[in-house]
Amino acid sequence: MAELKVQHSLAVLGSTFSQSCSPTPVAAPEWLAFNQPLADELALPEQYHATAVGLALFAGNNLPKWCQPIAQAYAGHQFANYVPRLGDGRAILLAEVKAADGQLYDIQLKGAGPTPFSRGGDGRSPIGPVIREYLVSEAMHALGVPTTRALAAVSSGEMVYRDEALPGAIMTRVAKSHIRIGTFQYVAALGDTARLTEFTDYVIARHYPQCANQQQPYLKFLQAVIAAQAATVAHWMSLGFIHGVMNTDNMTITGETIDYGPCAFMEAFDEKTVFSAIDRRGRYAYSNQPPVALWNLTRFAETLLPLLAADQPAAIQVASAALELFSQHYQAAYLQRMTAKLGIEHGVPEDAELISSVLVLMQQDKVDFTLFFRQLSSNKPAITGELFNDQNSWLNWFSAWQARITAQHRTDEQRVTAMQRVNPELIPRNHLIQQAIEQVTRDGDLSLFNQLKQAWLTPFNSDPAFVAFSRPASEQERVQRTFCGT
Ligand code: AMP
Ligand code: MG
Repeated sequence: MAELKVQHSLAVLGSTFSQSCSPTPVAAPEWLAFNQPLADELALPEQYHATAVGLALFAGNNLPKWCQPIAQAYAGHQFANYVPRLGDGRAILLAEVKAADGQLYDIQLKGAGPTPFSRGGDGRSPIGPVIREYLVSEAMHALGVPTTRALAAVSSGEMVYRDEALPGAIMTRVAKSHIRIGTFQYVAALGDTARLTEFTDYVIARHYPQCANQQQPYLKFLQAVIAAQAATVAHWMSLGFIHGVMNTDNMTITGETIDYGPCAFMEAFDEKTVFSAIDRRGRYAYSNQPPVALWNLTRFAETLLPLLAADQPAAIQVASAALELFSQHYQAAYLQRMTAKLGIEHGVPEDAELISSVLVLMQQDKVDFTLFFRQLSSNKPAITGELFNDQNSWLNWFSAWQARITAQHRTDEQRVTAMQRVNPELIPRNHLIQQAIEQVTRDGDLSLFNQLKQAWLTPFNSDPAFVAFSRPASEQERVQRTFCGT
């Protein structure tokens, strides 16, 4: 059997950054899902797959020797309010595993019981949020978005108590790391430049090794994190994804999307869309995501100030100049993604008008974001036109679009193929997730969950078996509000 290569580099950094902490065993674990392709990518030995040993591992009931469980420390701004000590309150990192591609991945249990950071919480999760995170994070991966992954989900055989008693579950999350902006905030708040340097060097070596041997490694690192997050958020925007809780503790240093709590995909286009029940002022509305990402990155840059220059005014200048690049990175990535969605091979800044004008029409006529781009891809202008009430404006836009795409040097067929590769047929529509959660929670019925899991593996295919999943929610089905995963 192939040997698993693991390390515990974060634990080795010492108790400033994490505390050792074992999962609390659960009464009667049962499989909800096991992600075989991901297990293979991780080169996880077979005994830890969908076996009894695997079940005991992913329930937190019996950890193999290669695990060295810890809870990580971090701080964070929650809805702009700084909280100096958050940390893994319901997550336990087991090990960093070297995958088949040579890259290190954290294996983390979520909902495995209390930790030193639980702050009175039970460290557990109801089954619903586990189902949501499993489905949405894997769908995001299939859509090509940088994201944490879902390796396993098991029910605990125990109830958790929220407003009501709900069956509990544990999800196994995989990520390049769980280091967030909030981790840097926590370290910076110690006010010890030596520790900050040690930690930053560690993160650079682990995630941005190309910055290590440069003239200004910390500035290069800051720039690289800004670029990574700008690219991820542009990708979200191009798919209508709304994260819902972009607190600084929920933004990874790698740019991987993390924490699928009140997240949701927008259906009818409206840039002010908010789903999260706790986001009363719309801080994390669809169109606010780019400026919020910049706000978060500004908090990140502040943590690095002692490393950026000899004195603070000079460091602030350096950091400000780096932050100014966010908008360039974001605009370029957004333009590239949106022009690709419109079938434009080489987007140019002048195409911004074509993008924004169709979004205005979609907003006005409440057009389903995903359906519109998919139908436009399929060369069915008449059907696409039916999505709009304002036919005059639609036809005007359509002729401008046609003029733009016919000026290109590629065949219609090539364009259609390219568009279908970036405009998904299937996205995780909220009402489907909701139905799957209800069926699992109420009846222990995994059939819809399994179907959705399968369908969302290939979101760019038009599979007749999954045609019902491409339809937007009806009035009765529509989910207006989503909730945090606690
Ligand atoms: P989140 O909203 O998921 O980003 O979580 C914010 C903070 O609350 C993190 O420090 C979590 O670890 C903590 N937390 C959330 N749910 C629980 C829970 N059930 N028990 C303990 N801590 C929790
Ligand atoms: Mg979080």
